[in-house]
Amino acid sequence: MTTKPAVLVTGGAGFIGSHTCKALFENGYTPVAFDNLTTGHADAVRYGPLVKGDVRDADAVQAALQAHGAQAVLHFAARAYVGESVRMPLAYHDNNVGGMIGLLQGCAAAGVERVVLSSSCATYGVPATLPIREDCPQNPINPYGYTKLVCERMLAEQAAATGLRYAALRYFNAAGADPSGALGERHDPETHLIPLALQAAFGTGPALSVFGTDYPTEDGTCIRDYIHVADLARAHVLALDHLLRGGASLCVNLGTGQGVSVRMIIRAIEAMTGQPLPVVYGPRRAGDPPSLVADPAQAHALLGFRTSQSDITTILRDAAPWFRPVRQAG
Ligand code: UDP
Repeated sequence: MTTKPAVLVTGGAGFIGSHTCKALFENGYTPVAFDNLTTGHADAVRYGPLVKGDVRDADAVQAALQAHGAQAVLHFAARAYVGESVRMPLAYHDNNVGGMIGLLQGCAAAGVERVVLSSSCATYGVPATLPIREDCPQNPINPYGYTKLVCERMLAEQAAATGLRYAALRYFNAAGADPSGALGERHDPETHLIPLALQAAFGTGPALSVFGTDYPTEDGTCIRDYIHVADLARAHVLALDHLLRGGASLCVNLGTGQGVSVRMIIRAIEAMTGQPLPVVYGPRRAGDPPSLVADPAQAHALLGFRTSQSDITTILRDAAPWFRPVRQAG
């Protein structure tokens, strides 16, 4: 393993952040998790030190960067629920936009000029064409997506004004769990489709509510592009390698290019368990676009990234142990 620098991972105790810390560690980096632990789990920080702090606090960011000699930041810390953002927009602006300001101020004060941002397909809103390319106009339809778009713009503006270089990674739907069982998805409250559907399947949660069956899609339910969190984590390592070897700033989609509907997830879980999944059909959820599917070509061209474990069967297999009555892994 080659020696690589320490990097600050904001939100390193969260779902995607903790998986990325593992991938960074396995690739020779020292991941320093920086997390206020409001939604993250201290016991998910296993691959480097944990600094308890808030990204809105520029002084705390600067101090953490300097204390650990970090040369770059991977910025995951954010509120990330579409539905909640519609109900609590100010919390999203405060945390996500305020967090980006505090982070960049802390970076500037510490002289750190490489940033990888968790951005989102939610920045595209309802795309004019599918699959979505990076040059698709970004017109978000919910506060969450809007705050991520502001973060991207802030990075672009700061990069134009200073020596900053960045990678904005527009995730599609992160799902699954570390294949070894070391890390998983633990949100409280849980709002995401795959965890809720698995809980319904295993009797550890109520019947799954399907949010809308009248979308203009083949089976009437929303279509998303689900990407395994271990694939996402690997993409972050590639983006960081790219920036640290002098690569230019970039914005890329991280997805598979395959659209999967809510009903397809239900059928895949039924095939896995051999049981019918308890389901109730309800109205649409505010803020949900009908269909979001990535064109993954740019991430491959610029970073050499391709998903390798994001087929829905693998995602469900790796996620499942975390939602069984007695967790069998980790
Ligand atoms: N969804 C659903 N029932 C749920 C949770 C989600 O039907 O209990 C749908 C939701 O409307 C969306 C898709 O599943 O079309 C994925 O939602 P999720 O919250 O997992 O991710 P998002 O796309 O909001 O980031």
